[in-house]
Amino acid sequence: MENIDKMYTKEMNICTHFGENEIGSYKPITPPIVQTSTFSFDSYEQFLDICNDEKNSYMYTRGTNPTTQLLEKRLAQLEGGEGCKVFSSGMAAISSTLLTLLQNGDHVISLNIIYGQATTFMNSLSKYGIEHTNVFVKSMEDIEDNIQENTKIIYMESPSSQLMELLDLEAITKIAKEKNIITVIDNTWATPIFQKPIKHGVDVVIHSCSKYIGGNSDVVSGAVISTNKIIDEIFDFAHQNLGAVNSPFNSWLLLRGLRTLPMRLNYQQQSVKKVINFLQQDDRIEIVNHPFCGNKRQKELANKYLLGYASLLSFVIKENDFDKLKKFVNSLKLFQIGVSWGGYESLVLPAFKGINQEQLEKRKMSKMHVRLYVGIEDADSLIEDLKQALDSIYNS
Ligand SMILES: *Cc1c(COP(=O)(O)O)cnc(C)c1O
Repeated sequence: MENIDKMYTKEMNICTHFGENEIGSYKPITPPIVQTSTFSFDSYEQFLDICNDEKNSYMYTRGTNPTTQLLEKRLAQLEGGEGCKVFSSGMAAISSTLLTLLQNGDHVISLNIIYGQATTFMNSLSKYGIEHTNVFVKSMEDIEDNIQENTKIIYMESPSSQLMELLDLEAITKIAKEKNIITVIDNTWATPIFQKPIKHGVDVVIHSCSKYIGGNSDVVSGAVISTNKIIDEIFDFAHQNLGAVNSPFNSWLLLRGLRTLPMRLNYQQQSVKKVINFLQQDDRIEIVNHPFCGNKRQKELANKYLLGYASLLSFVIKENDFDKLKKFVNSLKLFQIGVSWGGYESLVLPAFKGINQEQLEKRKMSKMHVRLYVGIEDADSLIEDLKQALDSIYNS
């Protein structure tokens, strides 16, 4: 142990490079997880070329990575957009998009109930001199009346993920285009399988990939799809500077999730119809919120924009009684209590937290509002579960 400088030298070289040129040639069936932070170059000249075009070449995984890029290509293709950038969460995709497209002095309008954290974020933008107005849309005039000189973005979620309300995308994008306003939609509920907003004139589509696209409740991730121009801007500004990058492993999991997305949705569409039929026929339920059973106007919008029905719904229990709500939720066995949705497992999420009644009223939601996600379990068993939980509160 005298000469500490000489230790492990042989092992160091083995650990770093031994055998790496002998991996051989083979063709894995699944796209590889290119789990690397950085990429090397054959020559200084090649490196110089790539430095000028980091978006389209592999230099460093905070920018571009082959596994992630394959996912981005597929998502862009599914949405009918030119480009896509994925992020480390849906919120990262939302905040990166808004921080890129907005600046001090701008105004953003959000429509109806959007994802709670997205509302919080938009309100916090006042810190950077950006105004936010939330508009409940009864008619197009409600939107027009709130457009200001400095309105830069109209942000929407359709269908939304609490009341599952649809908006008239073509009417909204028409108004927006006349006034040079960028339209952004959170398309998480419908996924690119059940709704293609770009076809209807929307400029930017956002997804929380943590939901249906991942499909297995094991990834948190998000995506933005738009024109190359907007995606390049988002890449240069927010993706590079804020650095909320998807890991190659998560991109790989999402590629795996995507393969079964159309089949899962198609199956879950059948299940949610059965669950809704049951809930609608049960007189202990006040109202069921889902495009499948919306009013006439909502049905028209669903027929126009949706290519299928996703399996997230909500309903209101008739009696206004917190104890009954607790008993109902606690009696469910197959539906687990949890936030999020889009995985294999059915979930229940009551909106009332004991202290947020005022907040719920602002969002036009009842204290007895329950969100239900129908997973890939047997639909009849899920209905049985709901029935026994309802029975438990009315028989006590
Ligand atoms: C979950 C969700 C988000 C946020 O996505 P994260 O991946 O959780 O950051 C945004 N919008 C909708 C509709 C969601 O359901």
